[in-house]
Amino acid sequence: MMERREFLRRAVAGAGAVAFGGGLSGAAAGQQAVERRNERPGMTYARLGRTNLMVSRIGHGSLYTNRERIPLLDRLCEGGVNFFDTSHIYGGGRSEDALGEFFGRDGRRKNVFIGTKMDLRAQMKAGEGVYAKAMDYAESSLRRLKTDYVDIMMLHGCTTLIDLVENPEWLRAAEDLKKQGKARFIGFSEHAKPAEVLTRAAACGKYDMAMVAFSLVKSKWGSMGRTDIKSMEPALAAARKADMGVVAIKAAVRAEEILAATSDPKLKKKGFSVHQLCYRYVLGVPGVHAVVCGMTNMTHVEENLKVPAIDLAAGDVERFRDVAAASRACGFCGTCLDACPNGIAVQDILRFHCYWGNGYRSAARAQYAALPPHQKATACRGCGACEDACPMGVPIRLRLREAHHVLA
Ligand code: SF4
Ligand code: SF4
Repeated sequence: MMERREFLRRAVAGAGAVAFGGGLSGAAAGQQAVERRNERPGMTYARLGRTNLMVSRIGHGSLYTNRERIPLLDRLCEGGVNFFDTSHIYGGGRSEDALGEFFGRDGRRKNVFIGTKMDLRAQMKAGEGVYAKAMDYAESSLRRLKTDYVDIMMLHGCTTLIDLVENPEWLRAAEDLKKQGKARFIGFSEHAKPAEVLTRAAACGKYDMAMVAFSLVKSKWGSMGRTDIKSMEPALAAARKADMGVVAIKAAVRAEEILAATSDPKLKKKGFSVHQLCYRYVLGVPGVHAVVCGMTNMTHVEENLKVPAIDLAAGDVERFRDVAAASRACGFCGTCLDACPNGIAVQDILRFHCYWGNGYRSAARAQYAALPPHQKATACRGCGACEDACPMGVPIRLRLREAHHVLA
């Protein structure tokens, strides 16, 4: 086990704080002590709000991390990545196991920031057992991660019930974990309603940071009132006022569909991937400090390490937003979820289908299997309310049938 109080390298922020986009840079952060780990040339770093952690602008999302992918962690560290995000639900604990195996050796733990997430939705919906389960999950995560503290403990998946972020039992557990030295900072993740959830969390004042799903696909959806850039701007401003760190997730959602729907030469240009563009886009949004990327092979790693250095002109951003909007790709906005009178987990099922299409078949099937029967595609009554509400015109009923066919 690592020692709880590690050596903290502290320095005055400002120098090299942020290269572009989000973060409190220069004067705003200049008076505060920040904590730096594993900083390397070629990577850029941002102060993650009031955590004062200087996180690499490219972080590692560990949904598909396992022991076979440990060499990727080595290369990411070599490239200056210092922020690693995981959860006990990823691979049934295999992701945390792999991070523990790698960072638990040779003093590596002290060189990085690790965040993990706990899924308490079942207990919150049942209205009981939240505190006990939170403490239990924290212990098992620490054991798998082979550490005695995480830098950030997050509540996972605040999308379906936005008021999860204010659950008093979770917040009590989070505060106790902080007091016990098992979690340094508190955050949450959400997958569909970043503007609403972020605004609510900033107002409640309890959170040090947030991980929110925000992508190029969603940026132009003016009619949504919650996921487009115009809705995100005030939410990000509220987070900034509360000095919360903001990390984008699911930023390359539907990247291949965007690419397939365009002949734009800039997107087709050799040596420039649409995933890189998607990640670079969110890093350019003011108030976004970092983006976590799922990386499952060395090509992904090498591409993503180059993202912070990509020069993206303002005119290009506007054009790419138009291209993404015209692609009519599902951006997992969650509108269909709210529109369904029968409580089908529409957005989740589409997301699992996407995982399946990206090659993560057993993980996708496992997540679909975990849904209760009344939320699965087979419980759909075909009313079409979801399609009427969808801003992208996705043929949802057909997609649900397709998803069930491969996931069941
Ligand atoms: S199908 Fe439509 S409404 Fe549902 S998540 Fe995708 S874009 Fe949003
Ligand atoms: S078609 Fe199915 S998923 Fe869509 S709103 Fe109706 S019951 Fe819900």
